[in-house]
Amino acid sequence: MKYSAPRGTVDILPDSCEKWEKLERILRTVASNYHVREMRTPIFEHTELFNRAVGDTSDVVTKEMYTFADRKGRLMTLRPEGTAGIARAYVENKMYALPEKLTKVFYMGPMFRYERPQNGRQRQFHQFGVEMLGVESPYVDVECMMMALTVVKALGLKNVTLHLNTLGDADSRDAYRAALQDHFRPVLGELCSDCQARFDKNPLRILDCKVDAHHPAMKSAPKTIDFLTDSAKAHFDKVCELLDMLEVDYVIDTNLVRGLDYYSHTVFEIISDDPKLGSGSTVGGGGRYNGLVEELGGPATPGVGFAFGMERLMIALEGADEEETAGIDAYVMPLGDEAKDVAMQIVAMLRANGFATDMDYASRGLKGQFKSADRFKAAYSIILGEEEVQGEFVQMKNNRTKEQTKVAFEDIVKTLEKGLGLE
Ligand code: AMP
Repeated sequence: MKYSAPRGTVDILPDSCEKWEKLERILRTVASNYHVREMRTPIFEHTELFNRAVGDTSDVVTKEMYTFADRKGRLMTLRPEGTAGIARAYVENKMYALPEKLTKVFYMGPMFRYERPQNGRQRQFHQFGVEMLGVESPYVDVECMMMALTVVKALGLKNVTLHLNTLGDADSRDAYRAALQDHFRPVLGELCSDCQARFDKNPLRILDCKVDAHHPAMKSAPKTIDFLTDSAKAHFDKVCELLDMLEVDYVIDTNLVRGLDYYSHTVFEIISDDPKLGSGSTVGGGGRYNGLVEELGGPATPGVGFAFGMERLMIALEGADEEETAGIDAYVMPLGDEAKDVAMQIVAMLRANGFATDMDYASRGLKGQFKSADRFKAAYSIILGEEEVQGEFVQMKNNRTKEQTKVAFEDIVKTLEKGLGLE
């Protein structure tokens, strides 16, 4: 039987891994610039956590979760997103007890959704996300959006726009919900069965439906912005004022509701027209989720966050200045069995001295080994035949200058240090 990777998953081979590392480096740099620290939570959680946090009317929960019973019959789910786990850990580890009140964390790693694999959609994909928990303030919303914009800028994405909307507080949402139901009630029979189910439970989701996206009632639907309470409006106005102050361009997009149940107040998406991604591509988005931590049994804790799909960010990086893959410092080339024993000792000694080193284990001829030294971008080739072993020396070839010299075993480290300018 031939095995293949499960549908919707991909292998990331060494060349790509180097690009992924570069992306991760950039993300970590931006995070430390914003004083946002990393947090790692489990890849699987109790299914109930996602039902609760993500919402059991969302597509993610109803159709896309990888859920399994463990050996004791407990239902577990591979995480489809990162916020629920962070919020759960925040409560469990009593992170709310910090004097600063605001906790700023990021995560990155694989997420799992049973979606139809297609252009840019995978079943195992990666997200980079940020959560800022503990302070209810439009300043924090803006801190979050600024960081998201800094990420896309750092990746060199062009023509990026911040799209912004507000869902308001609980009272605004209740008023809006009722207005939406009044709006869709007369055409309910024309909507898909999912939307009919959403109508009672969470009519906001109807606006997010892919099937009914072109139904005329979608365009004429009421807008959240017209149902805001005074305090919700004040929050949103302050967000806009701060963005103006910081000279950030944004578009108020009254149709933006976002897919997950936990959002309130500010919601945003970052959309790029960079030809690399295709016009109007959503790179990532997020928003405020004031009810979530309380929903999970913690104290009432406001939160705001965003997540980027990292596969998207990788496309953004493609074509950015190609970074030379890092080469090794030395490639040790033994000729003959006896030389191999000595070579292995030299490799161990060089590694212990901090040099990235490799050797040929396949007993190949000189020509093949020189080719590998080239492929591995080795700064030095260290050649070791029978004669060299007897005389306790090696031939060291500087692969840049092509200069080759005889070097005694005890002088190899010194010669490398000198040659690599580390003296
Ligand atoms: P969401 O958590 O649904 O708001 O998604 C945030 C970002 O994650 C999206 O903008 C996408 O870039 C990315 N994303 C979501 N689902 C997938 C998927 N199945 N495959 C690849 N990327 C995804």
